Amino acid sequence: MSIEGSLSGLPVVWHEDCLRHEPAGEVWLGQRDAGTEVPARATAILRALTAAGATVVPPQAHDRDALLAVHDQGLVDHLATIWADWTAGGYPREYGRDRVVPYVFPTPALLAGMPPRLPAATHAQPGLYCYDTMTLIGPGSWEAIRAAADCARTAAALLTGGASAAYALCRPPGHHAGPAGYGGSCYLNNAAIAAQALRSAGAGTVAVIDIDAHHGNGTQSVFYDRADVFYGSVHVDPAAGWFPHYLGFGRETGSGAGRGSTLNIPLAPGTGDDAWLTAVGQLCDHVRAHGAEAVVLSLGLDAAAADPESPLQVTAAAYRQAGELVGQLAPVAAVQEGGYDLGSLGEYVVATLTGVQAGRARATA
Ligand SMILES: [Zn+2]
Repeated sequence: MSIEGSLSGLPVVWHEDCLRHEPAGEVWLGQRDAGTEVPARATAILRALTAAGATVVPPQAHDRDALLAVHDQGLVDHLATIWADWTAGGYPREYGRDRVVPYVFPTPALLAGMPPRLPAATHAQPGLYCYDTMTLIGPGSWEAIRAAADCARTAAALLTGGASAAYALCRPPGHHAGPAGYGGSCYLNNAAIAAQALRSAGAGTVAVIDIDAHHGNGTQSVFYDRADVFYGSVHVDPAAGWFPHYLGFGRETGSGAGRGSTLNIPLAPGTGDDAWLTAVGQLCDHVRAHGAEAVVLSLGLDAAAADPESPLQVTAAAYRQAGELVGQLAPVAAVQEGGYDLGSLGEYVVATLTGVQAGRARATA
């Protein structure tokens, strides 16, 4: 696929602080593995976008209110301070623990009905906020987490300012981070921060369309009881054994005022272009029925056939078509989520955003 010049004029919001997060692997099933959420992902995407003629713009710095519009204060404070507490406690130097990893979790089974409280030991605190062992924190993580949130917030601001589409190159990704917890290589929910910013700036209704190969459980939980933000996701079926395992089923449709504002379309492992695009089309039909003045596209490329983190088999051409379907709905702020095959990642991002541009052109013709 030729990508030269196809994205001229598209603002790409990027800050190199997003490279400072180096989780140095993940603890999976009790073993430290190399992990796939690496800084090279962002540089691969940036290289492809630049070659395609996109315009790189810096994010605006936002204060913590932009984060607290979506997340609990306790989570934000924890992410901002835990690495300093960890090093001050001597964990890297004296115990060889070079990254923050939780080890005890206040699950309902442990608490037995008692309220959770912040434990005294620094090494017991991460489990209060982090729900898995594969989302590590080290030097530079907080700076990257903040920069990624700023990129998403800025992409939303560009839409509010009249842009038809914008893309935030967020790293780390965000859609597994909920109001009070993080996991799945995500810390703060960049897409939710963007959606909330659009609402706060006056958009009556906003839709988040999540085409990452995994269910965006964090985004779903942020908006689950709200009617003003629709959340729709197509992803590999958690019932077939895939992360986030406990959430992402079709029966989850929202609660209270948000009833009917969540739509999950789980797909079987091995699903390819046709069924995946049909599902994306169904999400778009629901957004049209629900009404949306702006769309946040949670852009995960890990449904790609070559991706090591999911069993879906989607081509770059189908991602381009998905982008075009989404682009026809409303102005689009695309926010980077997963995608781990360094060889094809850039091509897939460019293909999707080219589709978004085409969809926007068709919608505004
Ligand atoms: Zn994913």
